[in-house]
Formats: sequence, structure tokens, C-alpha cells
Amino acid sequence: MASKRDYYEVLGVKKESSPEEIKDAYRKLAMQYHPDRNKAPEAEEKFKEISEAYAVLSDPSKRNQYDNLGQDSFRQQYSQEDIFRGADFESIFGGGLGDIFDFFFGGGGGRGFGGGYSQRVVRGNDLLYEVEITLEEAAKGVEKEIEVPRTEHCDVCAGTGASPGTSPETCSKCGGRGQVQKIHQSGYARFVQITPCPTCRGTGTVIPSPCSACRGSGVVKKKRKITIKIPPGVDDGAQLRLRGEGDVSPNGGPPGDLYTQVHVIPNPNFRREGSDLIYELNIGFAQAALGAEVSVPLLDGTAMLTINPGTQPSAILRMKGRGMPRYGGFGRGDLLVHVNISIPDRLNQRQKELLEELAKEFNQNVKSSGKFFRF
Ligand SMILES: [Zn+2]
Ligand SMILES: [Zn+2]
Repeated sequence: MASKRDYYEVLGVKKESSPEEIKDAYRKLAMQYHPDRNKAPEAEEKFKEISEAYAVLSDPSKRNQYDNLGQDSFRQQYSQEDIFRGADFESIFGGGLGDIFDFFFGGGGGRGFGGGYSQRVVRGNDLLYEVEITLEEAAKGVEKEIEVPRTEHCDVCAGTGASPGTSPETCSKCGGRGQVQKIHQSGYARFVQITPCPTCRGTGTVIPSPCSACRGSGVVKKKRKITIKIPPGVDDGAQLRLRGEGDVSPNGGPPGDLYTQVHVIPNPNFRREGSDLIYELNIGFAQAALGAEVSVPLLDGTAMLTINPGTQPSAILRMKGRGMPRYGGFGRGDLLVHVNISIPDRLNQRQKELLEELAKEFNQNVKSSGKFFRF
């Protein structure tokens, strides 16, 4: 169902198209394929495809994410409903967003869970998994294989909970409705209370001969290896969502999602501020006064940095584009080199003499220790 084609291609626009161009392209295609106008059988699918593309490309932050993550990762992180949520169709069709929503998600039924059904379908649990990466990995983006304990459908009974060769049966207590009525009398008032059936616990079916592998639950705990793609520029604490990779539903509902919380291990060289990196550089007094070429570490290798003559303590030198890639954006941050001037705490005789001479030249009064050593 979901579009597998590139969204730009679907709308026939260029990657650098302006929001207006995207809107125009969609408007033209929508007029052509709107099911109210076009009764061809494939028109509806086509209309969905272009609308999905428009919903993403018309939203600046979704468009950014899409450009950065690519089609597959983007679709892993956004459900169909997330994609359409907040999209501006009103300015194109005039009608309310609700109409479009109903059109795509089939009205009431698909929108929420449990609304008025006697057998409530439960979504599987969401899972949270923490993963540690280095700053270098955060800069480049990385794929990590993680092993996640989660519930999956039992292979032995194919998730039915019934031992092979048998099948679940309709509950005789509630006749398969999953609920029973209790009538309370209170004075003249009569209340009908509807509760889940205690025999089948609201499922409407009972399992006469439970599967031995899952003890009739239909689900088992398994450790599953999953590869997660961590996009470049990710920050410490970011959460990535893998749709449908959480626990399965115990009764036919959709699976939960797997969230990965990214922890970026502190780096000995760099501190991070958004997409900028900060490096503390120690240079000598003579280097600051006379200027120098010094080597500065980068995330990948080193670079030479020019210290101009007369550089002051606490100067900040900016190396453009040598920071982290901007997450969900374009380009890179900078490397900010904080210059610290280190004063030697131990001097040999010659160094002392030179500094004393220098002090004399500057007319600076120093606590001379030379005389104690002078022969
Ligand atoms: Zn029952
Ligand atoms: Zn089983």
C-alpha cells in the first residue's frame, strides 16, 4: 500500500523545489486523480500516493527528515497517520482535514483502538532499548545490531495458543461475544452492567487443549537481533523509533514499537554544543606572542591551525564546518578551539635567565631568583 517510490519523483518535482512548486505540482495531480473526478480503478491508489508525498514534502521538518534519512528509514519512523497528521490539505481542497483522514483511514474504525468493540484488540507493548555509540559514530551515522528480548507469535501453534491439530473454540459462557451482562436492581432503578466474560477473559474463545510451548498464550519471549540505523548528527539522549518492532499483540492487534535511546559516550577531546564541537587547546606564552602553527585533533584525523601573533588567553578560534553534521538539517557545525595559555610551573636555569632578561626588556618588575644562583 505504502508508496515505495521517491516522494519527489511521485510529484514530479526537483529536490530543491520551493514549497510553492510542490503545492502546485500536487494540486495539478490531485485534480487529475481525485476519486471524485477520476473513476479509473487505479486512481485511488495514485491519489493516496501523491497525497502521502505531498503531506511529507509540504511540511518543512518532515521534508528535512526525509531528505536526511532517506525513504526507508523515514518510513520506519513515521506511521501513515503520522505522515498525514498536520498536513495542509484544506487550502487545496477547501474541505476539512477530517474528510481526507476518513478517506485514507477508512473512517471511524481505523482511527483508534477499542472504540466500542466487544472484543478489545490490544496493541503490543512498546519497548525501549538503550544503545551506546561513540562521538565519531554519531558524526558519521552508524548501524548497530542489537539483541532485543521481546514477545513474538509462538511458532508451534502459529500464535493461536491451541496445541497443533486442535483449534480454539467459541466460548460457551458468552457465546463468543466476550462479554456478559449483569443486572443490578437498586430501588426502582435497574442497571445493566456489561463486564468481560470471566471464562474466556473477554476474548470470546477458549482453548480446550493449550499449546505446550506457549501454555496457550500464543506468544513466546524471544531474543531477536535487529539492526538499527543511527543517522549522522544524532545527539545524546535522542530516541529513534522502529515501527512494529516491539512486542506482538496477544490478540491480533498491531505490534508495539521499538524505541532506541541513543547514548553518546563522552569524548576525551571534544565537548559538544549542538552541532558545534569545542576543543581546549593549550599553547605556550611564546607561541601566543609570536604566532605558531599547531596541530588540532578532528573527529577523523588532525588539522593544522594558525595561531596569529598576539593571540590572547581565552581566544576562540573557529574552524568552519569541522563540527558535527546537523541532525535533520543541512551542513555541519564548527569546531571551536578555546585557546588556553599555559604558564610553565618549573623552569630550568637558562629559561629563567631568558625570562628575566625579557622582563627587563619589558620594564617589568619580577621576583628574581637568579641572584641566588649567580656565581
Ligand atoms: Zn466467554
Ligand atoms: Zn504456542
